[in-house]
Amino acid sequence: MGSGRGSGKDAVRRPRFLGALERHPLLWGTLIGVTLVAALGCGAYLWPVPQSGRDRLATPSPPSQTLPAREPVSPAPVEGMPGSGVVAQGMVIDPDSAATSDVPVKATVTYEVASRGSVHANMEAFARQVARFLEDPRGWRSVGIEFVPVDSGGSITVWLTEDSQVPSFSSICSVGLSCSIGPDIIINEVRWVEGAPAGVMDRVPVVDYRKMVVNHEVGHWLGHHLHSSCPGPGQVAPLMMQQSKGLDGCLFNPYPLPSELSAPDLLGR
Ligand SMILES: [Zn+2]
Repeated sequence: MGSGRGSGKDAVRRPRFLGALERHPLLWGTLIGVTLVAALGCGAYLWPVPQSGRDRLATPSPPSQTLPAREPVSPAPVEGMPGSGVVAQGMVIDPDSAATSDVPVKATVTYEVASRGSVHANMEAFARQVARFLEDPRGWRSVGIEFVPVDSGGSITVWLTEDSQVPSFSSICSVGLSCSIGPDIIINEVRWVEGAPAGVMDRVPVVDYRKMVVNHEVGHWLGHHLHSSCPGPGQVAPLMMQQSKGLDGCLFNPYPLPSELSAPDLLGR
């Protein structure tokens, strides 16, 4: 296993629901009961009982940590052919936006960047692009969730993983797709390099596809345990829809919708 790691500040603050789970261990049982093993598409998501991963979570969260819903950004659909990779306005060709958010920080999530297997992509470039996605003011940052890269001890780890090694995280993860297993955000290198599976969204730029995957998988960890469906032809796809499996007539979307940003389960609210 090789590794490439980001660097940064050492601020660590956990999502409040994790603290609640420690104070009330029976909640784990509830979580286990509702563990969701979604059919592929992101490709898969599983929230297991944290064991060693739990050790990565350090200081407890402050007593109040509410995340106000942000003002809707409502990306306006553009004309096109729904389901063939049409994207919503303002989302096309957005390489490495350096824009930063001025929304006050409500919660800080630390993360590590690492690789598994024989990865050929440039890890520094990977870490840099992941950071840009997580800092993007149109993403989770828009509700005050700040992501800070750390060398070790991060709450989550974003892995760039050799295609054949993705199932090594869990049997529910598949070759050919990305995956999310508890604090492990597993980005499939083939998808990172090539973009969406052939025929799914061929008109979507790779950088936008990468952004969608990172935001989607991180969205699972933030509390979105369920996948969404396309609300109707021509509508903007929810971020938590399995867009890698097909758009079902929706417009490709790499950002959380206002409803996903204000979801009551976000960060365990
Ligand atoms: Zn998913």
